[in-house]
Amino acid sequence: MKAMILEAIGMPLRPVDRPNPLPGKGQLMLRVEACAVCRTDLHVCDGDLPNPKLPLVPGHEIVGIVEAVGEGIAPSRVGQRVGVPWLGHTCGCCSFCRSGEENLCDEPQFTGYTRDGGFATHVVADADYAFVLDSQADPVALAPLLCAGLIGWRSLKKAGDGKKIGLYGFGAAAHIIAQICRWQGRDVYAFSRPGDVAAQRFALGLGAVWAGGSDERPPVALDAAIIFAPVGELVPAALKVVRKGGRVVCGGIHMSDLPAIPYALIWGERSVVSVANLTRKDAEEFFPVARQADVRTHTKTYRLVDANAALDDLRAGHLSGAAVLIP
Ligand SMILES: [Zn+2]
Ligand SMILES: [Zn+2]
Repeated sequence: MKAMILEAIGMPLRPVDRPNPLPGKGQLMLRVEACAVCRTDLHVCDGDLPNPKLPLVPGHEIVGIVEAVGEGIAPSRVGQRVGVPWLGHTCGCCSFCRSGEENLCDEPQFTGYTRDGGFATHVVADADYAFVLDSQADPVALAPLLCAGLIGWRSLKKAGDGKKIGLYGFGAAAHIIAQICRWQGRDVYAFSRPGDVAAQRFALGLGAVWAGGSDERPPVALDAAIIFAPVGELVPAALKVVRKGGRVVCGGIHMSDLPAIPYALIWGERSVVSVANLTRKDAEEFFPVARQADVRTHTKTYRLVDANAALDDLRAGHLSGAAVLIP
């Protein structure tokens, strides 16, 4: 197999050849068709998340074809298309797992962080945490659904049922969630980096009713806002534009420190919540919704060996939609 590996925090990924991984008990070995690049990959490579496996193959938005199965998995699954997300394994027995909150598991494993991921031609994954995907669909279009879509969906659920939804950071997650909001009959208010007219135009093209800079105020008070950008200063900005009782959802796994805020900003029963990881139930809900809403992902493809360029473009904000690696 070929893979792009992170050998040390802060270093560029390096291409390597290694033997194909062998599927263990309950596992699948996939030939990777496409793997999208997520902001969390940047956080892993930059050392914002503690103790990654090293050396590591990043990547947790994997679409692939089952090539081999481990003990306990039906051989008939060979040839099936599956998706592998960030949540790679949970313990199944901690209080969170037992109460349906496996996203908060005390001993989880994460794809492309604590185990090898999909910036590679081949990868192994636990069969219980891989989702069967449409064999007729375009694997490149599916890949961003595996994290941008799933985490976006979980964030949207946390935002509640309000009609007016703000989205801060109009990248991979927001461009999917905007399409779902529109299908649900909600109004999307898109906030980009100040002056990023291209991002605002992209948002309006996907059905946002208003787009502006994160320093701007929309014409109405919002029911909820979801922050996908990893910028703590956006929390008070979002609190200022949600109504009384409104909610601000932080959808990213890492965010710069939140600034001190006057209590008046959170007064009126406004709340701030974070979203951690995903559950398999989120995926059961989300993939049918994405299909019904006819979500179209906007992607820019890169060769596997150009993974560093994809990461750089994401870091620089040069993407409309999602970067996807094709091994
Ligand atoms: Zn991700
Ligand atoms: Zn657990």
